Amino acid sequence: MILENIKEVQQNIQKACEKAGRNPEEVTLIAVSKTKPYTMIEEALKSGVLDYGENKVQEMCEKFEILPKDIRWHMIGHLQRNKVKYLVGKASLIHSVDSIRLAEQIEKEYAKADEIANILIEVNMAEEESKFGITANETEELIREISQFPHIRIQGLMTIAPYTDNPETNRGYFKNMKKLSVDISSKNIDNVSMSVLSMGMTGDYQVAIEEGATMVRVGTGIFGERNYNI
Ligand SMILES: *Cc1c(COP(=O)(O)O)cnc(C)c1O
Repeated sequence: MILENIKEVQQNIQKACEKAGRNPEEVTLIAVSKTKPYTMIEEALKSGVLDYGENKVQEMCEKFEILPKDIRWHMIGHLQRNKVKYLVGKASLIHSVDSIRLAEQIEKEYAKADEIANILIEVNMAEEESKFGITANETEELIREISQFPHIRIQGLMTIAPYTDNPETNRGYFKNMKKLSVDISSKNIDNVSMSVLSMGMTGDYQVAIEEGATMVRVGTGIFGERNYNI
């Protein structure tokens, strides 16, 4: 089932790229494995997918210990400062940086280990009150501040669009994310890349790709519904 799902998602990615005149190699599929047992990741690995997304530090670390070391782990959930130290040497990309205080903590922990943290800035494009992330207007300033940190490389932007049954309602947010990314890129800020645009989930990844996503985070569409009661 998992392998069939991955195949279907990959075909949808391919189609969305064709529709948008993009090269599918520009788009990385992140299989969001949060709440799912590591045995399901072992199954998914047979497809060749090596990027996995988790939203809890402890769960990511447990899976990191058990599973093959060539997996690239993506921290996609809200990150508490006291958990940052556990990510050093394990997270390939932290998608959810949305404050200078969190960035300071990342700088401190990665400096101690003499490592570089790759991060994305989380933007709450729809300005939903329930969501983390900064507003589009605050983004350039935060990026300029974080760009001063020697142990952090900003690689791009991430957004979580509103939950919707109709992906078209999110197209405008994805368009605005792409615009913001191009705008910040044009400022040529030292130490800052805008090569990654992490947007699109099970309900809307095709639309996100049409609007420029370079990473899509798909959970339910690969591993099935999550049960938070177990
Ligand atoms: C859970 C989660 C996803 C995956 O959501 P699905 O709708 O199951 O694809 C993607 N991104 C983030 C940040 C998440 O927390």
